[in-house]
Amino acid sequence: MEKNLYIVRCGEVALKGMNRPYFERILLERLKKALECYEETEAQWIDGLMIVRVDAKAPEDEVIGKCVRVFGVASASAAVEAPKDISEIGRLAGEYMQKVIEEDNIKTFKVKAKRADKSFAIESPEIAKQVGGMVLKACKVLSVDVHRPDCTLTVDVRREAAYIFRDKVKGFGGLPLGTNGKGLILMSGGIDSPVAAFMMAKRGMSIEAVHFHSYPYTSPRAQKKVEELVGVLAGYMGTVRMHVINLLPIQEEIVKNCPEDETTLHVRRFMMRIAEEIAKKYGCMMLITGEDLGQVASQTAEALVVTDNVVSMPVMRPLIAMDKVDIIDKAREIGTYDISIQPYEDCCTVFLPKHPVTKPKLARIEKSDSKLDVETLVKNAVESEEIVEIRP
Ligand code: ATP
Ligand code: MG
Repeated sequence: MEKNLYIVRCGEVALKGMNRPYFERILLERLKKALECYEETEAQWIDGLMIVRVDAKAPEDEVIGKCVRVFGVASASAAVEAPKDISEIGRLAGEYMQKVIEEDNIKTFKVKAKRADKSFAIESPEIAKQVGGMVLKACKVLSVDVHRPDCTLTVDVRREAAYIFRDKVKGFGGLPLGTNGKGLILMSGGIDSPVAAFMMAKRGMSIEAVHFHSYPYTSPRAQKKVEELVGVLAGYMGTVRMHVINLLPIQEEIVKNCPEDETTLHVRRFMMRIAEEIAKKYGCMMLITGEDLGQVASQTAEALVVTDNVVSMPVMRPLIAMDKVDIIDKAREIGTYDISIQPYEDCCTVFLPKHPVTKPKLARIEKSDSKLDVETLVKNAVESEEIVEIRP
């Protein structure tokens, strides 16, 4: 089978000391998994790079797109491998540029050379000069422009081989998924929670999700929207398991027994309690939310204290100090924004009080709470969970 070559570079993994082999192994596994849809893909670490060979029929952009979605990857390039012989490098660079001319109407170029292997006798500026000369001979339409070239061709001479490439597509960086435990994201259909899940996963945390609905007050379409959002996340993390729970029986109890202005806080406290039980059941060590300080009444400092009080598991709030505009930018970048803004109701907006408390006192909230059979309500909710496996 004819294959194309890609070089994939790691980011922070390179800074790991003694643990580097462990991180490298997991990163390579993740990369292979992301490319498993192509038959006979080969990937291995060579000279500090991941060298990947994929069926030549696979579209280059698609392969690169999959590579840069793997957390821990700094960048990826479609490349050509050359033996460490300057005339071979020059010949292959000429061939490569002929293809580039066919694809894009370029007129000028320059060659940038890097020599990681210092035992290679020719120094970088000389490599660039010689390869540039050979490209000019092979491609008569081209001329050299070192200041503003249409195309910069890089020649990277390493220990095992030399690599010739043009573009470097940036990845998200971070650490390979699965190197930092597992967390449970409380996933609404909004803008924030998908971004929060993404940020934790980018630091290596595996993710499961829990979603609460209030069917029939919320529609099945609202849940589909959440599944679509998780589907986008699955493009980065692989299949995600989502636990789906109907919160309506609990909301009805709250509305019946607690003051109206406290409703949202009680709902949020139940979400946290149920999430903690689900997390324990499935081996998640932390909860994750998309809360952002001061964004809405239930996310004031006082409200967060009241919400946090019902769980003992650490609650990660990666967006806590971000401005909404920056969260929106991030949502756009990762591809969740357009889905998030579709107007479907969330269970939080069912029974929304007219004037929610913004500076709740824990003692007062606990007093109203004592009117509810918390344990049974949580137990029933956990037992009623439905599980959906969401694939990329
Ligand atoms: P988002 O954009 O994530 O919906 P938001 O600004 O709408 O955030 P809230 O609705 O107050 O904020 O929710 C705060 C957080 O609580 C969410 O980021 C999410 O982690 C969690 N959450 C809210 N609604 C749900 C739900 N229906 N199911 C699971 N978690 C939820
Ligand atoms: Mg929301």
